Amino acid sequence: MRPFNILFVTAEESAERWREPLSAALPGERLYFDADEIDPAEIDIVLTAVAPSGALAPFRRARLIQSIWMGVETLVADPTLPPDVPLARMIDPSMTRAMVESAVAHVTAAHLQLDELARQQREARWEPLRNPLASERTVGILGLGELGRAVAEGLLGLDFRVRGWRRTARRTQGVECFAGEGGLAAFLAKSEILVALLPLTAGTRGRIDAKFLDGLPAGAVLINLARGGLVNDDDLLRALEAGRLRHAVLDVFNVEPLPPEHPYWHHPRVTVTPHMAALTNPRTAAAFIAENVRRLRAGEPLLGIVDRGRGY
Ligand code: NDP
Repeated sequence: MRPFNILFVTAEESAERWREPLSAALPGERLYFDADEIDPAEIDIVLTAVAPSGALAPFRRARLIQSIWMGVETLVADPTLPPDVPLARMIDPSMTRAMVESAVAHVTAAHLQLDELARQQREARWEPLRNPLASERTVGILGLGELGRAVAEGLLGLDFRVRGWRRTARRTQGVECFAGEGGLAAFLAKSEILVALLPLTAGTRGRIDAKFLDGLPAGAVLINLARGGLVNDDDLLRALEAGRLRHAVLDVFNVEPLPPEHPYWHHPRVTVTPHMAALTNPRTAAAFIAENVRRLRAGEPLLGIVDRGRGY
């Protein structure tokens, strides 16, 4: 069988970081890093993260558009994306592990009130805090997909009480599960620490608003590791000012990089991290891509196929 023509095209990731890992993982295929080098009709597979609207329209005859990121909201929202070409997202176990490490670190810090202790130190206040044990602390996870389930497992291993919210009613071992709009109020009511791991879709955009935050126990902590677009920033700032929420850890923002004048930067109740909870690792991501290429060749079901109607 002839080699596949595979085009890497995205402004968001440096082609130089990907060239060697992709070449090593796909030795039998032809890799292109410049769209001008080949007729779009000859491309079998497009590798991309974010492309300007219209940039992928010429690849109507491709057999796969493979995202090199886990989140695909920008690709799904592009009306010019060829409708008949399957879209797959990245599902990389090493990214999942990185997300577990980030989430466990932030949850544990919130649980031990390290934010409050930092405040005390700045003010030279000696006030030992009586923290409950993890087994007495309830952590809610918004989204029980690839990442949410792995984070739940990590937290269960530390003895936290874990509950999760998802779109469809399904069980996850050890996790108290809630589903859909009907399950949201009960889910939020006991989530003292809330970890957002939802994809950004029409159904989740701006979901974390005033009404939503009002549903959390007083003094809860929000940890958003998914997408900034889930959060209504004005409502979150108001909830923090009012003391409804004790703290927010934000890795992702409505505008990235977070503009220097944004109130989050210097807010005493906000921790800002620069969208790094789980970065794509070209070496391990290339292994996932190679597996999908193998499946495509073998006519086997592809991994990570996105339901464009659902948005994730
Ligand atoms: P998945 O698609 O595997 O899981 C998504 C979960 O969200 C599912 O449990 C799904 O429910 C649930 N969900 C979707 N829509 C709704 C809704 N309207 N109401 C309730 N639940 C909903 O995604 P991943 O776990 O792989 O990733 C989640 C997101 O994390 C990515 O989309 C990406 O944006 C972000 N991310 C952030 C990174 C970072 O560095 N900060 C790195 C990697 C990813 P159901 O199970 O019923 O389908």
